[in-house]
Amino acid sequence: MFSGLDIRDRGEGVASSEARVSDNHNLLVVCGRCDTTNRVPRDRLHDGATCGSCKQPLLAGHAFALGRSNFDKHVAGELPLVVDFWAPWCGPCRMMAPAYEEAAARLAPRVRLAKLDTDAEPEIAGRYGIRGIPTLIAFRNGGEVARQSGALTLPRLIQWIDANVA
Ligand code: ZN
Repeated sequence: MFSGLDIRDRGEGVASSEARVSDNHNLLVVCGRCDTTNRVPRDRLHDGATCGSCKQPLLAGHAFALGRSNFDKHVAGELPLVVDFWAPWCGPCRMMAPAYEEAAARLAPRVRLAKLDTDAEPEIAGRYGIRGIPTLIAFRNGGEVARQSGALTLPRLIQWIDANVA
């Protein structure tokens, strides 16, 4: 185990309190719990990195919640990110939730899965032109690379994510 804080403590040149620049050896990974950006050595992604700030596993494979305070930061992260645009009243969204959580576990640490409540965050849903839910959007390096409307079963979720971002 290691943490982003440990990396900073070894004096690898992160000047600010948060990592902002990646390089050939490190990936920037935004913590799904506290939104701190951590530098993780690319060859250590599978080693159970913990967040330098909150000390929780960085890539634990849980679908985490996004909102206006952290959406753009996570979308800009360097690992592929899939966002489930959903709402609490949406039956198909609730039906897909366990499969989505399982997909998050199976695809960790290669891909991160997150959720955005479109009722709570209509501005973000509007920005992406979400017309029906659930809608899945896959992001790479800050840009949308694929979109899927309608709930998927676990095998089809994994297949869709693998085909588009993994
Ligand atoms: Zn954290």
